[in-house]
Amino acid sequence: MQTDTYRHKGMRRALVKQLREKGIRDERVLAAIETVPRHYFFDKAFLEQAYQDKAFPIGEGQTISQPYTVAFQSELLQLRPTDKVLEIGTGSGYQCTVLLQLTPNVFTIEYKRALYEKARIFFKKHGLNPHTFHGDGSQGLPTYAPYDKIIVTAGAPIVPKELLRQLAVGGILVIPVGNEQSQKMLRITRVAEEEFTKEEFTDFKFVPLLGRSGWDGGM
Ligand code: SAM
Repeated sequence: MQTDTYRHKGMRRALVKQLREKGIRDERVLAAIETVPRHYFFDKAFLEQAYQDKAFPIGEGQTISQPYTVAFQSELLQLRPTDKVLEIGTGSGYQCTVLLQLTPNVFTIEYKRALYEKARIFFKKHGLNPHTFHGDGSQGLPTYAPYDKIIVTAGAPIVPKELLRQLAVGGILVIPVGNEQSQKMLRITRVAEEEFTKEEFTDFKFVPLLGRSGWDGGM
C-alpha cells in the first residue's frame, strides 16, 4: 500500500519551489504538481528519484516526463475546468493525473499495451477516471473529437494533420517537434476553422512519438 507522508509532501513542496524558480508561473499547475504524489508512479526503491526534477525509466524503453516538462506543457495548455483534453502518450499516467486536477474530462491514449494496462490499473486503484485507450495517438482519437486541448508527450517529426483536424476552434495543441535528439515545444492555436497560429518555445528531449505520423510511420 502506498502512503503519502509529511516527508513526501515536503519533497513535493521543494520540487514546486524549484519549478517556480525555473519560471513556471501558473499557480493552478503548481498546485496540481504539489497535490499529485509522484512517488506513486515509482517503485519504492526509487523514492528519492521521484522528487528530483528528472525523467525516469518506466519500462518498455519509455520514461515518466521530467516534472518541469509536465509543468511547462500543462501551463501552455491554459486549461479551464470545462475543457475536454486529449493526451497522447499515457506512459506512467503522471501527466494525466496532473491534468485531472485541472479538468475532469481527460482522454488519454497509449501505444504500448503493457503501459496502457498498467496505467489503467493505476487509475482504477486511485479512484481516477480518465478515458483510457490503447492505440496510435499520432492519429489522435477521432471518435471523441473535437478537443479543446491536445497535449503530445512524445517527440514528433511533424505536426500530424489529424491532430489539427481534431482541435476545436479556439483549441490549443501543445506538441514537441524536431529530430530524435531535440524537439522544440510548439503551441498551435486553431483561431478559426481554417486558421492556425504557431508559437515556438525552448528545446526539450522526449522519447520518440511512434505510429503512423511518428518515427515509425508507414511500418
Ligand atoms: N505522459 C507520460 C507520463 O506522464 O508518464 C509520458 C510518457 S513518455 C515521455 C511518452 C509516451 O508516449 C510513452 O509511454 C510512449 O509509449 C507513448 N507513445 C509514443 N508514441 C505514441 C503514439 N503514437 N500513441 C500513443 N502513445 C505513444
